[in-house]
Amino acid sequence: MQPLPRSRKETKGSRTKIHVNDLVIGDDFLVIAGPCAVESEAQIMEAAFAVKQAGANMLRGGAFKPRSSPYSFQGLGEKALQYLKQAGQRVGLPVITEVMDPRDVALVSAYADVLQIGSRNMQNFSLLMEVGRTQKPVMLKRGLCATMEEWLASAEYIMKEGNPNVILCERGIRSIETYTRNTLDVSAIAAIKELTHLPIVSDPSHATGRTELVPPMALSSIMAGCDGLMIEVHPSPCDALCDEKQQLTPKQFAALMIDVNETLALRKQMRRYHPEKTQDEVKL
Ligand code: PEP
Ligand code: MN
Repeated sequence: MQPLPRSRKETKGSRTKIHVNDLVIGDDFLVIAGPCAVESEAQIMEAAFAVKQAGANMLRGGAFKPRSSPYSFQGLGEKALQYLKQAGQRVGLPVITEVMDPRDVALVSAYADVLQIGSRNMQNFSLLMEVGRTQKPVMLKRGLCATMEEWLASAEYIMKEGNPNVILCERGIRSIETYTRNTLDVSAIAAIKELTHLPIVSDPSHATGRTELVPPMALSSIMAGCDGLMIEVHPSPCDALCDEKQQLTPKQFAALMIDVNETLALRKQMRRYHPEKTQDEVKL
């Protein structure tokens, strides 16, 4: 592995904690939920109420959507940022949204509590450096075909510019499998905890692309040691403008949250294998 002077675990004696309002990412288990894209004021407001009620502690919603086709819905841009912030404030949740272009970093930072760097931009180095020049927490998603080494090197780009507030997000990688949208690399979650002091979130929605696979992969990610989850939730998934097959209904999300809390409680009780600690912190 190439040198990772800022992100590797040995650099710091302790794990990185990132403060977002009252939330301490790295200590409090993070549950980001909300629709793939902000589609209207009413849609994001309804989603915000539903995910807050079920126990999420951060609201998501895309304003600038990285779509494979230029003819697909691209997001509502600044209007979406306004609706997202408004919805978050109304229910009392911080918000996260993707920034795709270095020229939009200041604009998105004015509305978002956490900036998301999407998979397709994991190696957009000018974008990484631009978010690195802010002090906003940044969630860096793993690239579609990126090795862990490449992913961590991208985190270093952000940190090298002076922003230490990096959260990693495993969202599945391209594999030979076509049944699932991507292949969730659960082993990367455990490995990242060994390699770095940065918090890691799992996104089983984009990893699987299938609603029915989201709960089992969310719970597996918890047992692998993740510090949080990102789950796509839409008031009416079948009417969604994008990613309709992977978004949970509010009811499905509320059910998942019960299992998430039970799994977290189980994880806390475990005395030998302990994913909240790393191998050298616990004598096996
Ligand atoms: C997203 O989370 O909105 C998204 C587009 O995901 P990814 O960049 O992982 O494809
Ligand atoms: Mn999506």
